[in-house]
Amino acid sequence: MTSKIEAHNLKEEIEEITNKALKQGIPNHKCAVFRILREDQFSPKGKATLLNNNHHENLIFDCNLCKACEQQTNLCQAFQKARQLLALKNKEPKANKEILENMKKTGNVYGIRN
Ligand code: SF4
Repeated sequence: MTSKIEAHNLKEEIEEITNKALKQGIPNHKCAVFRILREDQFSPKGKATLLNNNHHENLIFDCNLCKACEQQTNLCQAFQKARQLLALKNKEPKANKEILENMKKTGNVYGIRN
């Protein structure tokens, strides 16, 4: 029950942030990820549009949370919340799960025991 409420709250917070950002305008040209991948869904505006339409996809992890796309908005916070939402639904990328498991078992991201 708690996770359902948490997920609902996260969705509302994401929508609030992305609404504001989309109205203000989001500078795609500042995004290093978009400059390399050159596909709209990887742009900050593309990610914000997807999130704003309740599409919480794993491509939100294709972002280095550098904040270059923020212009008086907390867009990065929306991306972090979307990751949190996916983790809550157990839908984060396999690599992230492995990193967490490695940290729990060995204290480092590689899973190497000293
Ligand atoms: S925070 Fe993410 S989307 Fe925004 S500019 Fe940086 S890499 Fe791109």
